[in-house]
Amino acid sequence: DWMEADATRAVIAALTAEGGEIRFVGGCVRDAVLRRPIRDIDIATHDPPERVTALLEKAGIRAIPTGLAHGTITAVIGKAHFEITTLRCDIETFGRHARVEFTNDWTLDAARRDFTINAMFCRPDGMIIDPFDGLADLGAGRVRFVGNAMQRIEEDVLRLLRYFRFYAHYGRPPADIDALEACRIQAHKLADLSGERLCGEVMKLLQAPDPAGVLLLMQGHHILQHLLPEARDFGRLRVLVFLETRGLVRPNVAPDPLRRLAAALDVDARGTENVAKRLKLSNALAERLSALAAPPVLPDESMDDKAARRLLHRVGAPHFRDLALLAWARRKAVGDRMTAAETQRWISLLDRSDTWRPVELPVHGRDLIALGVPRGPRIGVYLAAMERWWEAGDYRASRDETLDRLRELVSRDIETS
Ligand code: ATP
Ligand code: MG
Repeated sequence: DWMEADATRAVIAALTAEGGEIRFVGGCVRDAVLRRPIRDIDIATHDPPERVTALLEKAGIRAIPTGLAHGTITAVIGKAHFEITTLRCDIETFGRHARVEFTNDWTLDAARRDFTINAMFCRPDGMIIDPFDGLADLGAGRVRFVGNAMQRIEEDVLRLLRYFRFYAHYGRPPADIDALEACRIQAHKLADLSGERLCGEVMKLLQAPDPAGVLLLMQGHHILQHLLPEARDFGRLRVLVFLETRGLVRPNVAPDPLRRLAAALDVDARGTENVAKRLKLSNALAERLSALAAPPVLPDESMDDKAARRLLHRVGAPHFRDLALLAWARRKAVGDRMTAAETQRWISLLDRSDTWRPVELPVHGRDLIALGVPRGPRIGVYLAAMERWWEAGDYRASRDETLDRLRELVSRDIETS
């Protein structure tokens, strides 16, 4: 479908307008063969980056130099992004500092790629060029390094993680023994990877259909210990994935890598911080992870309405939902078989978050100022006290009642001071 899309046609037309030759490559070819949705479109071309830029601009397409050192230009049309990379081969590789040289040879470009299933080309006419038998591997669920696994990981240790990421999404057991062994031997080098590179792969791995199975495989080969030793709760992760994907919960919950990571972590708040640091998570993501992995309160299926509303008010509906899923997964992972009634109660707990509407304390700082309280920290102290009172009354107090209570508080303080 995407090959027929207007944006794709426009990019093809621009890049081939003056006789240039292009091929699609990587994930979009692999996923098109499997008829899976694609993430981004990678294009390989003979033309050097400057010429790619000129051709795109001539056609009125925005061209952004996203990786000039690697010869990558991103073409942007509306929401569609195309990564256009000049054919290259890696001359000497020292980790990620490969010395890149442009080439005219499609097969050399394929040979620098990581796995056979990622080294397939597709011409604009739909013809697939498959130099390393990637199609057969894809069909058989084989994730196979292009060349020697040991050497390819030596060149770039990120490929070790990518191996498990692609195995998680495209592989079928048994995993390749030589590849696993090469990964085991070089797993200690994972510590050298930057957080950003680690994070991208880990998040993609966690979105796989059975991330717990792959983490277990990594643990069995002493690899996970070098990456995320805190990820130990495979049982809970497995149940969470089951809950997400079995349609028990409506509306369907999308696989959420951070929630899945939280499910697998067996740590306190401090441990969660370490994980966030190692993965270089943004502040917002780090906070979310710690709120999920080491929460002060967890919802519970036996919670009464009032307690549920209180938690909903404190954390908001989306977070409540996440916490409820995690709590449910924990219970199911450690407990005995769940009765139908118990399952139903968990489902209603989640439903509650759908129907809940945020409520807001009906008095504000300006009301305090009108009562003569000077601007400053006292205002916050009063508002916090009012919030507690309002919560104790189950958020039912009207504005008038709340104002009365506020006047009472303020005048009492004036008397005692
Ligand atoms: P996704 O669906 O996640 O986009 P992808 O296969 O397109 O999967 P990318 O990370 O977008 O993966 O990389 C695009 C292509 O570049 C890969 O298919 C592979 O051919 C090549 N590639 C990417 N990273 C590496 C690497 N570290 N070593 C060798 N080749 C790589
Ligand atoms: Mg891609």
